[in-house]
Amino acid sequence: MTDHRIVVVGAGFGGLETVYRLRGVNARITLVDRRNHHLFQPLLYQVATASLATSEIAWPIRYLLRGRKDVTTLLGTVIGVDPVAKRVQLDDGQALPYDTLVLATGAGHAYFGHDEWEPFAPGLKTLEDATTIRRRILTAFERAEATSDAGERAALLNFVVIGAGPTGVELAGTIAEMARSTLPDDFRNIDTRKARVVLVEAGSRVLSNFPEDLSAYAQRSLEKLGVEVALGRAVSECSAEGVVYGDTRLPARTIIWAAGVRASPAAEWLGVAADRAGRLQVNPDLTVPGHPDIFAVGDTVNIAAPDGSPVPGIAPAAKQEGRYVANAIKQRLRGETPAPFRYRHDGSLAQIGKHLAVIDFGRFRLRGALAWWIWGIAHIYFLIGLRNRLAVALNWLWIHTLDQRGARLITQGRAVLDRVRKRGMDEAA
Ligand SMILES: Cc1cc2nc3c(=O)[nH]c(=O)nc-3n(C[C@H](O)[C@H](O)[C@H](O)COP(=O)(O)OP(=O)(O)OC[C@H]3O[C@@H](n4cnc5c(N)ncnc54)[C@H](O)[C@@H]3O)c2cc1C
Repeated sequence: MTDHRIVVVGAGFGGLETVYRLRGVNARITLVDRRNHHLFQPLLYQVATASLATSEIAWPIRYLLRGRKDVTTLLGTVIGVDPVAKRVQLDDGQALPYDTLVLATGAGHAYFGHDEWEPFAPGLKTLEDATTIRRRILTAFERAEATSDAGERAALLNFVVIGAGPTGVELAGTIAEMARSTLPDDFRNIDTRKARVVLVEAGSRVLSNFPEDLSAYAQRSLEKLGVEVALGRAVSECSAEGVVYGDTRLPARTIIWAAGVRASPAAEWLGVAADRAGRLQVNPDLTVPGHPDIFAVGDTVNIAAPDGSPVPGIAPAAKQEGRYVANAIKQRLRGETPAPFRYRHDGSLAQIGKHLAVIDFGRFRLRGALAWWIWGIAHIYFLIGLRNRLAVALNWLWIHTLDQRGARLITQGRAVLDRVRKRGMDEAA
């Protein structure tokens, strides 16, 4: 083995694929992530809506790479990069030297200059976010059952999802299904079917990255599930009291943010150009301009597809980039020059409800039950490990035949809940 040191930061779709594809390279690889698990984000909303358990969509990174003696896995948070000394800086004061660096640190939520909304309208990005949202949804039904105050009960049974991209649509559709199909028999004082689920979108249609006919179908399907779709209305306030969108003020105790993303600070670490969402502008070979030994992949980069459109922030794109970078590193170590990266778009998928989905394969579009089956099979296929595939398939079978959602657990207890709520109110005051 040579002394060449490859450091990969981030074990999401892009970083993990890079490490997988570096198998056999003549180098020492270190993979750093601030979490100990790789997360399958496309099914996070199912944890947030009590359909799946956390362990069904996340895997310890160390376990995934247990057979790779050439890879050292480190739990650590990167806070900077010194490209002159060629070191990655960790928050515990350590520095990791590298010869080749791959930044795959993904993206987080963007509140468009209103970070103060976050305590009231959490976004969905991590397992903690998903269990927080799950707790808020389930607790709202519990508190509505217990209260005798009609106004408070109405606010508790108003659920607002902000942003009608795939995550917003999936969340709103599933919350409406829970309220109408899963929960009614479990409560005595409230009729959960009367819960209002409102999907607020500043743009003119839901699923705006899909063709218009699929957007219209998705909106009709959501409305049939009981979701109120409010289009063309930007949110101007989120607080402990509720939400204001357009000229509507809606008291609501559960607000979920699915409206915007911001790239990780990788561009700031290097002091290089970024777009408005903070994504690094990379060269055609995915290296960072001025830093030929630093690659960047996934949601933290901005690069154009062959047709000139931006490569979308989706898992297959991050994996394609990871695969490309691994091959590029191998080629360079052999003294070859890699050809530029070319993105291939295989399609877009979104679930709307239990048996409904839309799929856009370009010339070929699908909607309804068949699309849902393809969506389901694709997601099960991309999960890691037979046990998780079987567990998810079994859970879905249960949900679809019996309307039972097995992960309806309120965790972190009432004390934490009260603290979170009080903190939110203090911050709002
Ligand atoms: C709710 C949701 C639903 C989605 N649904 C879909 C879908 O249906 N289909 C689809 O294709 N895509 C979907 N996506 C998008 C997809 O998940 C992303 O495009 C993909 O995860 C990007 O991969 P990545 O490797 O760039 O980043 P990520 O997968 O986000 O991985 C980034 C990694 O970097 C680590 N990290 C970040 N900062 C640091 C740091 N400073 N130090 C150390 N480690 C760090 C993180 O812990 C994480 O493990 C969804 C995303 C979300 C949030």
